[in-house]
Amino acid sequence: MEKLSRWTKDTLKSKVIPPYVITWKAGTSKPFISLTFDDGPCPKKTARILERLRKAGARATFFVIGAKAAQDLSLLADIAAEGHELGCHGYNHRRPQEQPSRALMRQELLRTNELIEKVTFRPVKLFRPPCGELSLALLYEIHRAFLRPVLWSKDTFDALGATPQNPRGLFDVTSGDIVLMHDRYAAPWLEVVLEQMERLELRSLPVSRLLEDQVFTVRGPAPNPAAF
Ligand SMILES: [Zn+2]
Repeated sequence: MEKLSRWTKDTLKSKVIPPYVITWKAGTSKPFISLTFDDGPCPKKTARILERLRKAGARATFFVIGAKAAQDLSLLADIAAEGHELGCHGYNHRRPQEQPSRALMRQELLRTNELIEKVTFRPVKLFRPPCGELSLALLYEIHRAFLRPVLWSKDTFDALGATPQNPRGLFDVTSGDIVLMHDRYAAPWLEVVLEQMERLELRSLPVSRLLEDQVFTVRGPAPNPAAF
């Protein structure tokens, strides 16, 4: 990863990041949020999530890892068939410092997109950086591939071992939120979020659809301290 100057880092972390450069929440007061699931597809776990989402009438975005998807493309087809969105999460889940060249970064994005597009016949619009980490070089390649980098505004910390019984801090969703979960660990958290959504009369839409309804600019730094 190239070395970023202190000034560049501070600028990128500050409020001046335009939300179309990095998205982490939608500027909407409509009662919509987005549930997102990373690191799949996982044969049994993803199917269980799909079933639960169907029952709740919720639509989500799945940020899939290319290498996992390649093992069984029918899982991607199942996700798309339920009306969910498929986003790119890299081919090998590499963070910026694990990709020494731009060519490699590009390959991670394009190989994954190619797999998704084989199933959806539509261009992939969104990319979730593995571990939420970005560099200027990666940002450049993301935008060059006509992708939009999407972080999150609410983290369940499910992949870090947090459970509803043992959470990491308070967890509550509100309009425009993009909620981070992982196929492998999401099941108990999904119940919590769906219950909150029902109580607050919120609906989940795929991220691309959620962003269409934006009417104001989301302020504040991107939520993930690991970014940059
Ligand atoms: Zn991931």
